[in-house]
Amino acid sequence: MASTSATETSADRPVVTRFAPSPTGFLHIGNARTGLFSWLYARHHGGKALLRIEDTDKQRSTQEAVDVILDGLDWLGLDFDGETVFQSQRADRHAEVAHKLLEAGRAYKCFVTPEELAEMREQQRAAKQPMRYDGRWRDRDPSEAQDGAPYTVRIKCETSGETVIEDAVQGRVAVKNSEIDDFILLRADGTPTYMLAVVVDDMDMGCTHIIRGDDHLNNAFRQLQVIKAMQGIEDGWDEPTYAHVPLIHGNDGAKLSKRHGALGVRDYRDMGILPEALFNYLLRLGWGHGDKEEFTREEAIELFDLSGVNRGPSRFDMKKLLNMNGNYIRTAEDARLAKIAAERIGPQADIALLTEAMPVLKTRARDMNELADGAAFLFKTRPLTLTEKAVELLDAEAKARLAEISARLSKESDWTISALEANLKAYAEELGLGLGKLAQPLRAALTGQTTSPGIFDVLALLGREESLARIDAQAAG
Ligand code: GLU
Repeated sequence: MASTSATETSADRPVVTRFAPSPTGFLHIGNARTGLFSWLYARHHGGKALLRIEDTDKQRSTQEAVDVILDGLDWLGLDFDGETVFQSQRADRHAEVAHKLLEAGRAYKCFVTPEELAEMREQQRAAKQPMRYDGRWRDRDPSEAQDGAPYTVRIKCETSGETVIEDAVQGRVAVKNSEIDDFILLRADGTPTYMLAVVVDDMDMGCTHIIRGDDHLNNAFRQLQVIKAMQGIEDGWDEPTYAHVPLIHGNDGAKLSKRHGALGVRDYRDMGILPEALFNYLLRLGWGHGDKEEFTREEAIELFDLSGVNRGPSRFDMKKLLNMNGNYIRTAEDARLAKIAAERIGPQADIALLTEAMPVLKTRARDMNELADGAAFLFKTRPLTLTEKAVELLDAEAKARLAEISARLSKESDWTISALEANLKAYAEELGLGLGKLAQPLRAALTGQTTSPGIFDVLALLGREESLARIDAQAAG
């Protein structure tokens, strides 16, 4: 069979991509990445990025499951064009295509019974042949079937030659047509199969580029059979360019699964990852532009192309994501970070104080939960609850020193980082101690913890009154 390269056929049309997730209860990180690639490709070419929800599995496709996907995309900043298409609402159109193929002799009614199919499978298994429908009703007259017998509608696939896909990621992939069986388009109850629904929707949405996980590569050969058969029947059935993106694996090389930890976009948000960090991380996971690591959205749109997508699977590396996230936190706006942190701290959080503290808080945190934990001391009420370690630090000697620190600091007229530092350094010198030795009990008293931002930052942020009250509460005497 003559084959045209799909890339050639769609090169002149304005780019239309689609992202077609199934509502499974979460937006899988791997799906989010193909969604990102589809969106970026369309944006790069000034085309359209469409969204289709493949909600034909009634049990799983609850409104909640759909919302999880929409929320996740929204959070990542992937704004799709036009109305979202819901596959379940298009069953009539899917069936219409099957009937047109039937009328044109490109599909046929198959009356094979479940028993016959089971027997066919058994024989193929015994002969160690791949399992596929043998086409026994392909050339038979439907009148040979019993009146009213249930039937499915099957596509009449090409039997000779090969189907070639010039995949924009995988390269040239060819399958012998003899290996593709006449698959079902309509089930016995008249409902469309997934294989039919996907390709009808892709064509009706005018998609020029199908960017998706490489677990769908085999489906592409089947979907192309429908496209080719429909070309003589309706306009607008142009072969799209396929780009099958390798899946994401865990850092042990196995396909990413629950045991590798978080799988859904929402999990990452809960873990305190910023959307722009996940956007950048997913972009870099499986796509590259030289050795550049950080991309703004604008840069990503400008530079994204399919030729930069790796052919091999990529490995998810949590450490790398966290490092990237830390970098984004450090450059993010303080007021925005304060809002995100406040949601995690609770109603006692004061956004103004958090914003003021942010330059100090954001220097170390790799995620927003860590940042919020580091900020929690600001909003504690007296008497502070101390961690066990903090209690251990506050022995009699430490408490005596806190009393002296309180006396010194209450006379301090200049409550600034530099003045406070000079004051306590002088005291440490008097005692012949390192500043750290003084800072430890002071930190325990001020924050109830043994880790916190720098001690002078803590004093400055809490202010004179609150600092002295917290110190006095732990000081001896
Ligand atoms: N709904 C399919 C999935 O979530 C994607 C189908 C496609 O992209 O063709 O895996």
